[in-house]
Amino acid sequence: MGFLNVFNNTKDGAKALTVGMGITLRHYFEQLLKTEPCESVQYPEERRETYPRTRWRHVLTRYENGLEKCIGCSLCAGACPARCIYVEAAENTDEDRYSPGERFAIRYEINMIRCIFCGFCQDACPTGAIVLRKDFELADFTRADFLYTKEMLLEPAGGTIPLSAIGIINRNAEAEHAH
Ligand code: SF4
Ligand code: SF4
Repeated sequence: MGFLNVFNNTKDGAKALTVGMGITLRHYFEQLLKTEPCESVQYPEERRETYPRTRWRHVLTRYENGLEKCIGCSLCAGACPARCIYVEAAENTDEDRYSPGERFAIRYEINMIRCIFCGFCQDACPTGAIVLRKDFELADFTRADFLYTKEMLLEPAGGTIPLSAIGIINRNAEAEHAH
């Protein structure tokens, strides 16, 4: 009985090993005989275009005239299941106007550690102010770096410079400054 068990186990193991090696060898020879170039992307020098509906880094957008779209209504914060958005509103005045509405966000923060990139904030926003764009390189070094402030999130006036570029420039400048 014992011998039969050992024999059966060995037979099953050998069979599984043969099947596994067969798959490996099949892929190996397929690649070897392939005439098309390999599809490997040399990241980060090369990047694949991301899926059109990709949702990554948040951006607070502006109108063409430079005014901020955000009116400080906090609907995004209310819709956020992770409770990671903090909005503080203030009144616009004729002398000091930031948005077309009565109010604007004087403080806007997202705790990116808690964010699950669900996009509910974008869906809830009545003015299309907060949007999730394709910048996915969000790694950082300290927890504090993940608290994105309004200054970090707001699109620069008069252009659509990717915020990732601004972040990289700022970080490089900080690194140089530190040395
Ligand atoms: S993407 Fe989702 S979790 Fe992240 S801030 Fe927006 S609503 Fe909150
Ligand atoms: S981002 Fe949109 S939803 Fe959030 S406070 Fe601003 S206007 Fe309101």
